[in-house]
Amino acid sequence: MTSAPPLSGPASEVLNRVFGYSAFRGEQQEIIEHLIDGGDALVLMPTGGGKSLCYQIPSLVREGTGIVISPLIALMQDQVDALRQLGVKAGFLNSTQDVSERRRTEQQFVAGELDMLYVAPEGLGVPSTQRLLDQGKIALFAIDEAHCVSQWGHDFRPDYLNLSMLHERWPDVPRIALTATATSATREEIATRLDLVGARHYTASFDRPNIQYRIVGKQEPKRQLLDLLRTEHPGDAGIVYCLSRASVEKTAEFLVQNGIAALPYHAGLDSGTRARNQSRFLREDGLVMVATIAFGMGIDKPDVRFVAHLDLPKSVEGYYQETGRAGRDGQPSTAWLAYGLQDVVQQRKMIETSDGDFAHRRNLAAHLEAMLALCETVQCRRAQLLAYFGQDSSTAFVPGETGCGNCDTCITPPESWDGTVAAQKLLSTVLRLQRERGQKFGAGQSIDILLGKTTEKITQFRHHELSVFGIGSDLREQDWRGVVRQLLAQGLLAVEGEYGTLALTDASSTVLRRERQVMMRREPERTKAPRARRAS
Ligand code: ADP
Ligand code: ZN
Repeated sequence: MTSAPPLSGPASEVLNRVFGYSAFRGEQQEIIEHLIDGGDALVLMPTGGGKSLCYQIPSLVREGTGIVISPLIALMQDQVDALRQLGVKAGFLNSTQDVSERRRTEQQFVAGELDMLYVAPEGLGVPSTQRLLDQGKIALFAIDEAHCVSQWGHDFRPDYLNLSMLHERWPDVPRIALTATATSATREEIATRLDLVGARHYTASFDRPNIQYRIVGKQEPKRQLLDLLRTEHPGDAGIVYCLSRASVEKTAEFLVQNGIAALPYHAGLDSGTRARNQSRFLREDGLVMVATIAFGMGIDKPDVRFVAHLDLPKSVEGYYQETGRAGRDGQPSTAWLAYGLQDVVQQRKMIETSDGDFAHRRNLAAHLEAMLALCETVQCRRAQLLAYFGQDSSTAFVPGETGCGNCDTCITPPESWDGTVAAQKLLSTVLRLQRERGQKFGAGQSIDILLGKTTEKITQFRHHELSVFGIGSDLREQDWRGVVRQLLAQGLLAVEGEYGTLALTDASSTVLRRERQVMMRREPERTKAPRARRAS
């Protein structure tokens, strides 16, 4: 560490005296001073970047109470307790409180005895809360998890839409909106919807150099996970994300049976169990939390050593946010994802059967495609992630090398092969089924046809009479699954409907007419753990 420049001024004084830190991180100081001067700010900072101080310090320096709007009701008590331990006068208002507690907090606010007051977004829509705020002095509004205002995002909260009224009702109070996840489109949406058009934007680097990104083919996911935990993370704390409650339960049970201290967390558990498991995870060492994505927002545990996904996240934003919970302390950590063809089929199905209009489904599909592209890339994962967030990755690269040195594709560059002929074989199978038989089938049957398998279903539909029967026996079944996945990821094939049947796309014909070469990533013999090489 180089010696920090001398600090002075009220912000630095509070940083030292109250929080016990000697220096600001990144753009904290600029943000804090801009707010103290009465400016509005939109802050994008990765998880663990230090967003909280950006509004906590101005709340202490400016006259009045800093109002923090947060959707994380379950964490308010913890956040307030932590601040009180530092001697900050903090309180919260939400639906979990009893009436007398609420009254007391309200009186403290009106009497000017609070530095900070945490409020749930739904609370601000209530006229009585608005009248209450009129009776006290407001130092600033901090809108945490601001991406919740985005209707296209994965955490949309309708109550956030009302927050544009803050500016109308209290035009002189500075506002700061913060989020760890936003593409430039989401950033614009946040600014517009929160009426923050004049706000200064601060964007911290989204790179997390200590996280090693790895995406592997899904074979026996629970076994693969167990291997990872035993060989690379014995005794480490970590989070395992699963899509469904049932798979959370099964996976947690499996890990426990195999001697790993694992706890389940999903919305189907009663709130007591959830709270207990969460607080054990935060306070005890080396626990593995197996959870749906309901778990994690706002969780501040610095030593999470790995985040594993057993199912494909719905978007790159979600993936980035969830993996970002690893390694907040800056120590080497692993982000590991197992993904297979079934994930793609399942998610397409969910999108097709989802409520919402065409535009909504198209948006979900676009998010999924970006996620698939990240999975199938033969280039540096980090570069692709950063590019998604509109950030140049060259600073994240090891000097003199073409990649980051700390993701699977950089550590063990994937072999690629010319899959044009294989693609043609697969696409013509889909085409023939449709043209000659008027039928649509899923990936499994198409692959069986190519491999020339005589299953009951093949005989039943007389698929052995098709001219494409058996023309793909030069590849293994797992290679064919890889071909299907990659064609899906490249938009050269589509899955449709309730049964996940394969269908051609407009772009398929370019392959069938041999106008286009299709490069593919070779399926590994077995997934082996790459050796870690620290980026910096
Ligand atoms: P975020 O909300 O962006 O995820 P936090 O505000 O919770 O991140 O900060 C992450 C961790 O970094 C916390 O433990 C916090 O105390 C610590 N931190 C933040 N700013 C500083 C700083 N300037 N110096 C040292 N530690 C800091
Ligand atoms: Zn890389």
